[in-house]
Order: sequence, then structure tokens, then C-alpha cells
Amino acid sequence: MTDTKKRSWAEPFKIKMVEPLRMISREQRAKALAEAGYNTFLLRSDDVYIDLLTDSGTNAMSDRQWAGLMLGDEAYAGSRNFYNLEAKVRQYYGYKHLVPTHQGRGAEHLISRVLIKPGDVIPGNMYFTTTRLHQELAGGTFVDVIIDEAHDTTSTHPFKGDVDLGKLAAVIESHGAVKIPYVSVAATVNMAGGQPISLANLRQVRDLARKHGIKVVLDATRAMENAYFIKRQEKGNERRTMADILLELCSCTDACTMSAKKDLLVNIGGFLAMNDDALFEEARNLVVVFEGLHTYGGLAGRDMEAMAIGIEEAIDEEHMKARIGQVEYVGQGLLDAGIPIVVPVGGHAIFLDARKFLPHLTQDEFPAQRLAAELYLESGIRSMERGIVSAGRNKETGKHNYPKLELVRLTFPRRVYTQAHCDVLVESVVEVFRRREKIGGLKMVYEPKYLRFFQARFEPL
Ligand SMILES: *Cc1c(COP(=O)(O)O)cnc(C)c1O
Repeated sequence: MTDTKKRSWAEPFKIKMVEPLRMISREQRAKALAEAGYNTFLLRSDDVYIDLLTDSGTNAMSDRQWAGLMLGDEAYAGSRNFYNLEAKVRQYYGYKHLVPTHQGRGAEHLISRVLIKPGDVIPGNMYFTTTRLHQELAGGTFVDVIIDEAHDTTSTHPFKGDVDLGKLAAVIESHGAVKIPYVSVAATVNMAGGQPISLANLRQVRDLARKHGIKVVLDATRAMENAYFIKRQEKGNERRTMADILLELCSCTDACTMSAKKDLLVNIGGFLAMNDDALFEEARNLVVVFEGLHTYGGLAGRDMEAMAIGIEEAIDEEHMKARIGQVEYVGQGLLDAGIPIVVPVGGHAIFLDARKFLPHLTQDEFPAQRLAAELYLESGIRSMERGIVSAGRNKETGKHNYPKLELVRLTFPRRVYTQAHCDVLVESVVEVFRRREKIGGLKMVYEPKYLRFFQARFEPL
């Protein structure tokens, strides 16, 4: 980083198998967009050129992972692949016990059921959709205790995922420790834009929670990305390995939930891990009811093998450098062109600031929804809205929730696209920016009752 001469870097892999991409014509894209009601979730994948809808389960597996699939031991009980995965989770995450689940929300469901009683309060560093929903379904209430900077798109705080210790102490003070089963800590924070939590902050969270006998549960879905940020920008950690930092991150917590579809470079999988024997006993009993026997948890043996191999590949610093480097490459390209984006650029995605991009539109005209649609029309690139449509309606008044942020998320699957795709992406956004004044708003013509952003339909005003 202190180099004054520019030295290029490249992806630490070469390509052995390819999947052809097809770019349909602008007329066809316009037709596809109208048929999808201007909602990128309703597009067919075949009509998409570069798909940045999500990084969940969309990663490219390595030759070793594909070879691992052939080593699947599909025994109902005691699969060899389970023991391989258990050994890797112990080695890299450091928890004593492993309960595999089909994906992250399966683990969230189990831990919420075991630890949360009706009336409980769960403080955390910004909510995640499925995490919060499972906490609520178990009778709990989530309280956001992330630092204020996380809500500010222009704050360049290096650890926007940090917990505000004053807010956390106030929640403990006002509800009492008996009402707080655990503090829910995410690393990196997805909804804040992939922003990391610092090790110093997590240590303080642990100390405060311990003092009151409260557990800490980590959402480890993106913890390896977080470890990379700590190594790079938290003083005193520059010389440590990512593996060493990951172990310390986890050691500050009592348990973790994991969606392996992110960090771990697979297409499906997840787990719950913990140190406490009694907690393990209960979770191991419940997993049989909801996921499958405790040595497969809803996964095939081969899926567990691919995850076990994915752990070792993801903890490799060259991999992570390229993964986060790719997101930062696009972020820099957009910043250089004067495009308004959320800074600092996070681990997994770039967020376009639709309010600043289309300042002539009111929030009722769905600027982020329109911008995502417009980017698809321009170049076949698929992104998603994170604004008023995603925020839904107020339960009491029935009115739209008006979130502060009106964003379009460009999310990067791991090892899938090359730097040339990134250049096409930057050029496409710049092209839409150039003709932004001619872009009008949308009206919603169909609105489903739940999670409307998935299926709502729109028409141009
Ligand atoms: C994706 C995700 C989850 C949920 O995991 P699924 O595998 O989609 O069920 C939980 N937390 C974070 C931070 C995530 O990114």
C-alpha cells in the first residue's frame, strides 16, 4: 500500500471450466424488464449478462472442491465428511462442538429456539433479515446497538461494524441482564454494507457481556472477510495471519451461526458451533427435528466435504486479497468517475447512492428500484434495490417506511467474474450516470403482503 509505483495484481487462479454468457439485445432487455415489472428479482437468469444480485451460494468452487464432491460419504449417520468438517471448524473457528445445518438460517433458527424466551431482548450490531426474524419468532425483540457512523454513507470510519458500548450498556441497564440471552454480533455487517467490526471493540463487548453473565453469539458468515480487514487496518494486527485473527475473533464469543454460502465458497451449507456442552446437547437434539440427523443437518455428505475444503481455501490471504481487491477495484473506478457510492467500500458489495444519483426523483418514485432497472436495461447487469421498497410498510399506519438510505447493491460472487467484467460494470454505471437527468420514476402496480421487494411490480411514470 505504500508502493508509489503502480503494480498490478491478478486473480490467484486460472480458469479450467467456463460457463458461456449471453448478452441479449437492448430491445430484448427492455421487453424482459417490462415483463419483470421493473423488478430485477423477477428477471430470468438467462436474460442477465453479469449477475450481481447476491453473493449467496453463487460462488465458483475450485477443482479441489469439485473433487471433494466425489468423496461424499452418503451414509445416513456418521459420515466421514462430517468428521472432516468438524475437524476444520475446530481448527479454524476454534469452537468445540459442530451442528451442521442446510444454510445459515437453519442455524439461526436452532440457536434462537434454544436461547430466547418470550419477552427477551437481543442487542446486536445492526439487524440481518433472517437473523432478526428468527429472534422474533422465538419471542425476542432485536435492539440495534451499532455505532451511529454505520448509518452515515459518507462517514469513513474504518470499523463501521463496531458496537456502541454506551448503547449496549444502556440496553443492559434498562432491561436487566436476565432478559438478555446473548449479544448478537455480526462480522462483517452485511446490512451496513459489509463493514467490519474491530477486534478491540469485540473484546470490549465480550468483557461487558461477561461482567453481566450474558453470552455473545457471532454471525460468522463473513468473519474471514472481517479478519482480513483487521489484519489490514487495525493497528497491531498487521503481522498476524488471518487464521490467527479469526481464532481470536471467535474466542471472544460463545457460539456462532454460519452461512457457508458466503465466506466458504460453496453453493449450499451452514452450521452452528459452540463451546458450551449443555447448549450443544439441546441444539443437537433440535437439529434432528428441523434439519436432519446431527451428523448431516440437511446436507449431503459431499456438501460437507466441499465446505471443509472451502474453509482452507477461504482463509488463504491471496484469495481474500483478490476477493476484497475486486470490490475495491470497482469502487475506486466508480469514485474516480464521480459516481456517488457508500464509503468505505465494504467486503462484498458496492452500494450506489440512488438519492444522489437521481436527485430529481422523490422517494415515492422509487429511485433505487428505477436505477437497478436502468442498469439492467443499459447493459444486462443485475443488481438489487435496498431502499423504500425493501423497507416495506409500517405495521400500524400502513404507510411506507421511509428509510434514510436509498441504495442499489452490486454484490460480487466469489471467483466468478474477471477484471474485464468489472471494467464493463464501471463503464455501464457511468453511462447511466451520464443520462441520469432523463431517467424518470416508477409507480408500484402490484404489492405483495410480505417482503414486497421480492415480487412487487412497477411501471414507469
Ligand atoms: C446470508 C446471511 C445469513 C443467512 O444465511 P442463509 O444461508 O441465506 O440462510 C445470515 N447472516 C448474514 C450476515 C448473511 O449474509
